[in-house]
Amino acid sequence: MEERIARACATAGRRREEVTLIVVTKTYPASDVRILSELGVRHVAENRDQDAAPKAAACADLPLKWHFVGQLQTNKVRSVVGYADVVQSIDRARLVTALSKEAVRAGREVGCLIQVALDADASGRGERGGVAPGGIEELADLVAGSPGLRLDGLMTVAPLTGEYAGREQAAFERLMDLSTDLRRAHPAATMVSAGMSADLEQAVAAGATHVRVGTAVLGVRPRLG
Ligand SMILES: *Cc1c(COP(=O)(O)O)cnc(C)c1O
Repeated sequence: MEERIARACATAGRRREEVTLIVVTKTYPASDVRILSELGVRHVAENRDQDAAPKAAACADLPLKWHFVGQLQTNKVRSVVGYADVVQSIDRARLVTALSKEAVRAGREVGCLIQVALDADASGRGERGGVAPGGIEELADLVAGSPGLRLDGLMTVAPLTGEYAGREQAAFERLMDLSTDLRRAHPAATMVSAGMSADLEQAVAAGATHVRVGTAVLGVRPRLG
């Protein structure tokens, strides 16, 4: 994986340090997380609180940053705030309000990425979660003004439908443009989380700062996450 990212950076004319690997450990046990940590991985991601909470607790002694990347229900927010350093799936105001309340209560600062749905339909929502590009600014301002939360940037999952279906690099380039717009008002929100096992090269080429890789590191998942 290290080699694949290094090659993608070289091809894109970027320095390796510009891209952070987040290993998506969903469906894999805490013992695998421990091995990854020993191998030098510093960022892991999970998408279900039921699995993530016990895993994070079992790995609390490790120097890891935990990212939450799944659709998040407000009744899970208190638990997630207990271990997550970054929530990458911010997609509605109610979630921001709940996260802020629990972060303050826990005395923690939680980093937030707005999840952008590049396949959003008329309802403004994407099939795989996220908010339409037109909804970013309002949510970003809300995060930035919420105690206990820090606006870190944007995240997307390459759409399976709509104008960007099968055009991952174009999708990631659009996310970069949206990030440029966002940074005018919020210069510290520099994170751009894009790219998974199948499309990390396109994400690195487009300018992603973080790639989220599961199967290409750990193998095909034992069951669907
Ligand atoms: C599972 C998942 C990934 C990793 O996908 P792979 O194809 O296994 O690399 C990345 N991002 C999100 C949001 C995921 O749910």
